[in-house]
Amino acid sequence: MSEDYTYLTPTMIRDYLFCPRIFYYKYVMKIQEPITEMMKDGKIKYEKFREKGKYQITLLGQKKVKPDRILYSQEVYSQKYNLYGIIDIIYWIRGKGYIVDIKDSDTRQIIRDHLYQAVAYSIMAEETFKTSIHEVQLYYIRSGKWITRRVTSNLRKFINRVLGNINRILYDNYIPTIKSSKKCSSCWYRKICSSSISKENREKRKVRRKILKL
Ligand code: SF4
Repeated sequence: MSEDYTYLTPTMIRDYLFCPRIFYYKYVMKIQEPITEMMKDGKIKYEKFREKGKYQITLLGQKKVKPDRILYSQEVYSQKYNLYGIIDIIYWIRGKGYIVDIKDSDTRQIIRDHLYQAVAYSIMAEETFKTSIHEVQLYYIRSGKWITRRVTSNLRKFINRVLGNINRILYDNYIPTIKSSKKCSSCWYRKICSSSISKENREKRKVRRKILKL
């Protein structure tokens, strides 16, 4: 069993969705991937961009959107889901709430894990600000692409299920199975996965040999 986490975060959701096994390594085994220069550089660029955006009249100076009220870097919390995070931007137009999540990426397509992360932010924002979030918007800095999605009940249910699975891993000794995929080739944790697979195979072979001797 892992230590008690005071709260869960949207980053945990993103990690789980990328690969449940990565989540297990990071948050139960506490094995952290070293921070690379590229990661540091991306973070600095993103901070600069967010800071600059605060001084624009339109939303980040990129869209012809003039919010009635706009807030940056807001702490949000959901007691219901035990979630905590800091949203990049929340704004309102004619009473409708919108969340903007800024990503340092050159993609022009929506990345599924980013969408779910943004939905988690909107769930927290609704509880914190007693408001309703109409849409989430992902802004990919390097491609300049905006992607907008409605926060549907199916998306909310999905997040609920993900949080249930995350809690199982953290508190019910559930170890997700290793599922090889395209992602594995660039994954920092692949050495650990390969040695676990070899160990499991060795165990299986041992059991098979024992059965054959009976
Ligand atoms: S190597 Fe593959 S299965 Fe293992 S943690 Fe990475 S992505 Fe997940």
